[in-house]
Amino acid sequence: MKKSIWEKYIKKLDKSKINENVDVLIIGGGLSGISTAFELKDSSLNISLIESNKIGSGASSLTTGKLTYLQDTIYSDLESMYDINTSKEYLKSQVYALNRIKNIINKYKIDCDYINNDSYIFSLKDEDKIKIDKEYNILKKFGINTEIVNKLPIKFPCSYALKVKDTAVFNPVKYINSLVNLMKDKVNICEHVRALGITKESDHYIVDTTKGKINAKYVVVCTQYPFFVIPSLIPFKTHIEKSHVIASKVDDIKNFNAMSVGKQKYSIRYYKDKDSYIIFAGESYKMSNHINYKKRQEELEIKFKEFFNLDINYRWSTHDITSNDFLPIIGKISDNLLVSTAFNKWGMTNSVLSGKILSDIVLNNENEYISLFNPKRKITIKRTMNFFIDTFNTGKIFISTKLNKNKVFYNNNVKFENINGKSYGIYIDENQNKHIVRNLCPHMKCSLIFNYMDKTWDCPCHGSRYDIDGNIIKGPSTFSIKV
Ligand SMILES: Cc1cc2nc3c(=O)[nH]c(=O)nc-3n(C[C@H](O)[C@H](O)[C@H](O)COP(=O)(O)OP(=O)(O)OC[C@H]3O[C@@H](n4cnc5c(N)ncnc54)[C@H](O)[C@@H]3O)c2cc1C
Repeated sequence: MKKSIWEKYIKKLDKSKINENVDVLIIGGGLSGISTAFELKDSSLNISLIESNKIGSGASSLTTGKLTYLQDTIYSDLESMYDINTSKEYLKSQVYALNRIKNIINKYKIDCDYINNDSYIFSLKDEDKIKIDKEYNILKKFGINTEIVNKLPIKFPCSYALKVKDTAVFNPVKYINSLVNLMKDKVNICEHVRALGITKESDHYIVDTTKGKINAKYVVVCTQYPFFVIPSLIPFKTHIEKSHVIASKVDDIKNFNAMSVGKQKYSIRYYKDKDSYIIFAGESYKMSNHINYKKRQEELEIKFKEFFNLDINYRWSTHDITSNDFLPIIGKISDNLLVSTAFNKWGMTNSVLSGKILSDIVLNNENEYISLFNPKRKITIKRTMNFFIDTFNTGKIFISTKLNKNKVFYNNNVKFENINGKSYGIYIDENQNKHIVRNLCPHMKCSLIFNYMDKTWDCPCHGSRYDIDGNIIKGPSTFSIKV
């Protein structure tokens, strides 16, 4: 697997002795789960968190780590999906999250390379200027100090941009590590424990895990993508977007972060540890629309060389969950079962926010954002249209991979065989050993595609991933593939 710039900071906790009876069980040790545990740590409740891999090793270690309320064209998108008040509420929630993280960092003197800087959205094409103007007008109306400028602080093809202040960048894994350290005596955090299923008893839940059963009054699912379909029906409210990322050494960092609007999306920020880096992301796409990830990565690298002409030190790719109404899904899905997902690639602020919302729900505290992100919020006509588009795309890839229409995309070292009416994927490694897996994702029975970049079998519908022998690497699936 390709490594991200943050992965070297992931620490080994290796604690896997679970508590069998708890008040609150948090599933998932990314920024969202860890933030929820952190917000609950001083309560009188008995809290546990389980993580199927290492703490912070999921999407939170594959992000670009920008902390900003300037998120593409979210405010015009929300105005057109709902109304201006929803847009304003979302802005308030993001500013709240930015202040919350800043306060936590200051209060506990957390070293996570947090740097205050300006955020930009910019247009690569003239036709996208109108989107920037729309966003500018809304932010102005909301009283945000913003300005239109005609260039970025670096040489880059941009003639029109919007700039805001009081945003930041940080190292997400260093931040997560510090929170874990601050609550290690108060929260039982276990790595390498995967939740397999949840059943409801009269007054509690039983969570089946790879290390045994856990009884919990509250279960909070922070697994990026919930591993169950009912009751939340998340696969029908979301789609998956994949992006590719590069980090390259530079002489010096520039103190800003930026993102282009329009079809061609690029994201830029800088990072300094021992060395200075530029982090450049792009080639975003709905996973159901493209399966040739390696080609998309190569295309990003060509563009990067064109813009910067630098050697590449890190390259990786990851995906995030996108809701069909642009709002994250955070809150109660039934009784005492809570979820946080669909951060629309803005999961740094939204994880911190969801930590506060979910902990307030558990503690029965008021929180002004509960209704905005309510998983059971109303279905609008536009949301229904997006549902049909997403379902059509997922259906298309579901069928086309079953028919093996993409054979042309595979090299000689990947083959498909039908044995006793069942489809198998075969990967032939460098030593000519054959690795055979049943070509069916246990989650929702989608056929898998071979990912040449990471040498894994990936589900193009919901993002589950398996190694060449079918062992589970990433959910929502909870099981390895049985041959
Ligand atoms: C290319 C890219 C760049 C991004 N850049 C930014 C950015 O600059 N700013 C921003 O705000 N957002 C950004 N995001 C979005 C952000 O990275 C994510 O939204 C966020 O990291 C999600 O956090 P999480 O805690 O929900 O998920 P994760 O970090 O994935 O954590 C979920 C955890 O749950 C564990 N898990 C899964 N299933 C189980 C199970 N069954 N049992 C136990 N554990 C389980 C996983 O192993 C994982 O560790 C970006 C996303 C992408 C794709």
